[in-house]
Amino acid sequence: MSDYSYPYKDAEFILNEIIGFDQMCAAGGLDEVNSELVTAIFEEANRLAVEVIAPLNWVGNELGATVDENGCIETEGFKDAYWQMVESGWCGLGFPEEFGGQGMPRVLATATDEVWQSSNLGFSLCPLLTHGAVEAILVHGSDELQQAYLPKMVSGEWTGTMCLTEPQAGSDLAALTTKAVPEDDHYRLYGQKIFITWGDHQMTDNVIHLVLARLPDAPHGVKGISLFLVPKFLLDENGEPGEANDAKCIAVEHKLGIHGSPTCTLSFGDGEGAVGYLVGKPHNGLAAMFTMMNDARQSVGLQGLSVSERSYQQAREYAKERLQGTRKDGSRYSIINFPDVRRLLMLMKSGTEAMRALAYVAAAEIDRSRFAEDPEEKTRRFARVELFTPIVKGWLTEMSQELTSHGVQVHGGSGYVEETGSAQHFRDARITTIYEGTTAIQANDLVGRKILANNGEVLADLLSDISTTVADLSADDRFADLGASLSDAVDTAEDARCWVLENALSDRFAAGSCGVNFMMLLGYVCGAWLMGESALKAAANLDAGSGDKAFLEAKLVTSRFFFEHLLPRANAHLAAVKAGSASMMALNEDQF
Ligand SMILES: Cc1cc2nc3c(=O)[nH]c(=O)nc-3n(C[C@H](O)[C@H](O)[C@H](O)COP(=O)(O)OP(=O)(O)OC[C@H]3O[C@@H](n4cnc5c(N)ncnc54)[C@H](O)[C@@H]3O)c2cc1C
Repeated sequence: MSDYSYPYKDAEFILNEIIGFDQMCAAGGLDEVNSELVTAIFEEANRLAVEVIAPLNWVGNELGATVDENGCIETEGFKDAYWQMVESGWCGLGFPEEFGGQGMPRVLATATDEVWQSSNLGFSLCPLLTHGAVEAILVHGSDELQQAYLPKMVSGEWTGTMCLTEPQAGSDLAALTTKAVPEDDHYRLYGQKIFITWGDHQMTDNVIHLVLARLPDAPHGVKGISLFLVPKFLLDENGEPGEANDAKCIAVEHKLGIHGSPTCTLSFGDGEGAVGYLVGKPHNGLAAMFTMMNDARQSVGLQGLSVSERSYQQAREYAKERLQGTRKDGSRYSIINFPDVRRLLMLMKSGTEAMRALAYVAAAEIDRSRFAEDPEEKTRRFARVELFTPIVKGWLTEMSQELTSHGVQVHGGSGYVEETGSAQHFRDARITTIYEGTTAIQANDLVGRKILANNGEVLADLLSDISTTVADLSADDRFADLGASLSDAVDTAEDARCWVLENALSDRFAAGSCGVNFMMLLGYVCGAWLMGESALKAAANLDAGSGDKAFLEAKLVTSRFFFEHLLPRANAHLAAVKAGSASMMALNEDQF
């Protein structure tokens, strides 16, 4: 099993050089939050991850979770690790102080989430889901619900879940049938939810489910869905967990990866009905859930990065140790000397750096949209967040399929057997393109809600910002070739944008057929944009003689590698976008 360590030099570089963290915090009135504090936070997070959470990654894989008549029992050792996290205040890092959080910027919480996710993806899903549930209650919950539930959820003393999926309703939530019947000041819920992450466990004395269900008078389809808060244990008069609610875990799935994360079947209302409280307005549940989903979608995108980073670190160490070349004098050398092993490692290193930059920049955009006082600026920032969300979720998680596979490849046969642990990262990564909306659902969201709904203007605005980087690169002789490539990439993205706008409304299959290629194209272009920025900032620091020379020199190389080996894929995606839907839809069902 490999050791893990958070690559905080890269994280600090992105925060300080690309995002302008200190200035952003000052503009948001967070004067006491600065890069010095960030370094201390990263070191402390890394310590907890390395000493406590990462060693449980393999244990989670091997032992998984079990279920008995009292519900689900998490992997041994997880409870102790979880409480170390809670007691050190990590769960509330990015939440409002009003509910016991620490009010830190979202981008900082995102960076520390990377630490938990890389060290143990299955374990980290528990705070991730709680985070999404807290966001939904913060935005849509009544004062009463907020006061009763948020303090303990923000601290992590209680965890949260997101209960959407039913056997017949996965991507198509319009088909969900769980019922909510009004009774006094609450509702009674009846139905079954499947695949619920951390749907039950024994680590905390309550679990707070956010459940999508239909009221008796609900219209058909997504417009008839409401959101309910359903605690595992009802609160007594002191606000403490008391009587058990009629909400039970009846099974835990056996699955390909993330064995440490219990994936539960929850049954609501086997008896008298599960008591639930409406969150937000009746029939407006999907909008409320979208608050949670956007949050969770960026977090799942981050998982793609995190598991790729873990896989990279392991592959790097193996490549340095594994001897397969023999010199004329009979001495042997390690596989890291072979160009093709370098290709794999560079794809992983350069790819994860670009993914990290995009994940953090997207998270910082959430902060900027919150901090902005000018309404126009706020709207612009929020639109950028919305545009980034499916790209972060879609591109990062699709990249993780490739990069964790490269991690296995670097290990040769040893990667394919379980003992080295590389296979676990590959298996763990596989879910990230599926849950929180499959890649296709992200692509539909991107094309439909983020492009067509605003006539492509939000993307045009982003491309205009990328053009500033084109100009900066072109103005520096050392990077003029990168400037030319990025300029072509902007043209490629613009070409795709126009194609989508021209064709999506006239051909009913156009949006669905081009979406994933369009999303991947934008991922590579955004990656190149931020690696171009990184090259400029690394060079400026080297010129000034500041910063870590070896790190900055490596950054120049990984940036160039991205342009040479990853960005060219954008053109292949453009060709596929423009091929349209004809051959994709031509065969009749019997011809498959
Ligand atoms: C380990 C794990 C954890 C999970 N955690 C949770 C959780 O905590 N809470 C929760 O509610 N759910 C959870 N899920 C469920 C998960 O979100 C769904 O599995 C996912 O949304 C896909 O739904 P589905 O499985 O029904 O697949 P389907 O919707 O049946 O999709 C099958 C295929 O059809 C494609 N497809 C479907 N609709 C469209 C469309 N409109 N356009 C294009 N392609 C389409 C999909 O992309 C996919 O390739 C989890 C699932 C797993 C496996």
